[in-house]
Amino acid sequence: MNCFECGEASYIEDSRDMAYAYKGKSTIIPAVTGEYCTNCNVPLLPYASYVRTENAKRAFEAMIDGMAELPTVEQLANTGVHEAVYVLVARMFLGLTLDEASQLFGYDKETIKEYESGTVIPPAALVKLCKLLIERPELLEDVRKL
Ligand SMILES: [Zn+2]
Repeated sequence: MNCFECGEASYIEDSRDMAYAYKGKSTIIPAVTGEYCTNCNVPLLPYASYVRTENAKRAFEAMIDGMAELPTVEQLANTGVHEAVYVLVARMFLGLTLDEASQLFGYDKETIKEYESGTVIPPAALVKLCKLLIERPELLEDVRKL
């Protein structure tokens, strides 16, 4: 199998954060699992990983289109709360409304908005839960039952 981008034939399996930009706003899609070309780093994604990545892109685009003041990853990083993006990405990727996220995570809606905007540092336990749900979205139903 040769890389469709550069023609090299050497891949490594890896899980990497993927940067994605839309209308001048950027985000990261965490932990995109696939085979990465060792020469040019272009990934070859298995179907499930591809679908997950595309869903995250579409969700991000929908949020940008419906939300004028979404913070960029750079803005979040500048506030020192880069981890905030995981709360935002988890909600986008899981397709949760603020109400649903509020019930699921046990914080009121205003607090979740503060976490997502990076104005308040999200608790480490919430960030870890969000990272877990981004990687293993099938666990959402189990978390709901807790
Ligand atoms: Zn390549």
